[in-house]
Amino acid sequence: MNKRIVIVGGGYVGLYTALRLQKTLRRELRDGSVSITIIDPQSYMTYQPFLPEAAAGNLSPRHLVAPLRRVLPKVEILNGTVTKVHHGERTVTFQPAEGQAREIAYDVIVMAAGSISRTLPIPGLTDIGIGFKTVGEAIALRNRVLHLLDVAESTEDPEVRRRALTFVVVGAGFAGVEALAELEDMAKDSTRYYRNIKPSDLRWVLVEATNRVLPEVGPEMGTWTLEQLRERGIDVKLETRLESCVGGRVVLSDGTEFDADTLVWTAGVKPSTIVNSTDLPLDERGRVKTTAALTVAGVKGAFAAGDIAGVPDVTNPGQYCAPNAQHAVRQAKVLADNIARHLRGEQLVDYRHKYVGSVAGLGLHQGVANVYGVKLRGFPAWFMHRTYHLSRVPTLNRKVRVVVDWTLALFFKRETISLGEVEHPRDGFRAAVATMRR
Ligand SMILES: Cc1cc2nc3c(=O)[nH]c(=O)nc-3n(C[C@H](O)[C@H](O)[C@H](O)COP(=O)(O)OP(=O)(O)OC[C@H]3O[C@@H](n4cnc5c(N)ncnc54)[C@H](O)[C@@H]3O)c2cc1C
Repeated sequence: MNKRIVIVGGGYVGLYTALRLQKTLRRELRDGSVSITIIDPQSYMTYQPFLPEAAAGNLSPRHLVAPLRRVLPKVEILNGTVTKVHHGERTVTFQPAEGQAREIAYDVIVMAAGSISRTLPIPGLTDIGIGFKTVGEAIALRNRVLHLLDVAESTEDPEVRRRALTFVVVGAGFAGVEALAELEDMAKDSTRYYRNIKPSDLRWVLVEATNRVLPEVGPEMGTWTLEQLRERGIDVKLETRLESCVGGRVVLSDGTEFDADTLVWTAGVKPSTIVNSTDLPLDERGRVKTTAALTVAGVKGAFAAGDIAGVPDVTNPGQYCAPNAQHAVRQAKVLADNIARHLRGEQLVDYRHKYVGSVAGLGLHQGVANVYGVKLRGFPAWFMHRTYHLSRVPTLNRKVRVVVDWTLALFFKRETISLGEVEHPRDGFRAAVATMRR
């Protein structure tokens, strides 16, 4: 009888689990005794650590995504959203991009829907804030920053200019620091093409509620990063919260008030909203409650990993694995092997990985790293950051494209044009229709 494996989410965990299953279960996939389906709104997996480089224009956005159908020829890919998981009946409700929702039955489910931005009810945030988790957000931000340089150059109103040149990032973890550092570097680089904008006219503000930045690289390198950012003229406000940003008027808890046209929200993540529409058990932080063997606690035929799952860290008893790619990729491998063991009635094995530290890019030729206790800063760390991520980005095809992008950047200056009009492609045509005489 055919056993159907349904994977909810085609990101890190979804893609790597399916890749591994495609290999280990190739005989079963060939004879039809097993089938695999991935459900995701997108037809590609996003390599998120490269989003800051895409925002800075060092990488083409198409080169940091892996097309699921091409990489997983033996897997059925359905584009749309899972809106409900009814594990008691072994069904998911699938809402395709267009048309009626339908029920899909399964034997094994993998919860791999990742996380979304963790937001707070701050006045104005929904109207002017933007996250930094998707290719769409990274490219929209790039277009926005460059467009605002055009605005500032072309206006005679000093208020409009000041507002356009003020950029705020809330949250000083990985995503926030890397996004800010890369965008600031790009904007500063771009000012050479503007007659009336000097690098010192740009105001970048990093707002962080705790007393440190980039905790992923440890206290010593975090402090070094803080000093670097401040040396670059970035206004880093620690132990400060965003209180309001109605109409772009930014109010901080230290009493500072100013206007800004750009506010990037990167203050943490929470599990994908699908967790609220399942009968699977959740832990105290709202993640899918998961065992060290990456099964969902207390139920049969359900697995979970990555940002959506509360996976016990067996190398650090009492703690959970942090939501990062380092764990997601490795968990996917163990998860896939455990699915194969489950189908064969064999004993499952636990996921065990001791966090090895992190690398972060801080703009062209700048970085910080703390890996296996080796601490690097500046160019060596940046080089390590690029080499590490190049080795990790899925498929040879993408690796080659990434290297080509980086090589071209050695010989040519980076592109600094805003293509923001792609967000409103019908405006010109609508204007033409409006001029039509009856
Ligand atoms: C800017 C940035 C930089 C980062 N840099 C690093 C780094 O340098 N090192 C590191 O270790 N980690 C880094 N991370 C974290 C890392 O990318 C995540 O931990 C990792 O992506 C988690 O993998 P995942 O499979 O759980 O989730 P994702 O990779 O986010 O995949 C989840 C997938 O589920 C899909 N989905 C969501 N809801 C549904 C639904 N209801 N139905 C169907 N599909 C759904 C989504 O569309 C998505 O494709 C970074 C993250 C960001 C945002």
